[in-house]
Amino acid sequence: LSVRKKLVVGNWKMNGGQARNVALIDGLKGAIPEGVDVVVCPPYPYLAQVKALAGELGVGLGAQDLSEHSAGAFTGDVAAPMLRDVGCEWVLVGHSERRTLHGEGDQLVAAKISAALDAGLAPILCVGETLEERDGGRAEEVVSSQLASVVSQLGAVAMAGLVVAYEPVWAIGTGRTATPEQAELMHVCIRESLAGAGVAAGVVRILYGGSVTAANAAALFAKPNIDGALVGGASLVAENFSSICVAA
Ligand code: PEP
Repeated sequence: LSVRKKLVVGNWKMNGGQARNVALIDGLKGAIPEGVDVVVCPPYPYLAQVKALAGELGVGLGAQDLSEHSAGAFTGDVAAPMLRDVGCEWVLVGHSERRTLHGEGDQLVAAKISAALDAGLAPILCVGETLEERDGGRAEEVVSSQLASVVSQLGAVAMAGLVVAYEPVWAIGTGRTATPEQAELMHVCIRESLAGAGVAAGVVRILYGGSVTAANAAALFAKPNIDGALVGGASLVAENFSSICVAA
């Protein structure tokens, strides 16, 4: 049995509403298996609402992003201690949509991870290559360098407290999934780069993300280095999300 408990994280992105959130969480009642860590990441305004609903089901709460600062004149930003204050335990950092739509680079990503850890949040570091980078044979190099820059800023000890999500950009929201073999190869590469940097890589959970569905989840989870999933689209339908949790 793996030392790494499976983890399934739903990233709602900019979707939801008070009524819809109630229906979605209601739909998960009785459908969340034991022995799997399950987390949902709603938009900021709904964190407190979803905390109250999801807490009862043993579903954890995560935010989709955070500021690298802890308080002050940063209009529109949300700090890690605030996320803790409303009951978050997790936070996504460096999602590809943050990297591409908001120009977040590796340095900022590392600063955000550091802010999360300082506040007692568990960061989920998202990494992944574009299609062009994969086609150019550079996928492993790109992902290793995204990891290396965070390791060099944070140090190996802090890295052991992280979850890494491998999300090939070409598979996010495209309906195109990496094959279990492609994902497993990259997960092994991620674990080896972490180990090479002195991180206790055996305990780090590495999630796969990119068009995970109820239909393809089991084959992905069967791979020894795939420790769970980060799920976008399919996390917005209770039936689909719970099937993915059951497959874990
Ligand atoms: C994501 O954005 O984290 C993601 C994996 O999205 P999707 O499952 O919709 O591809």
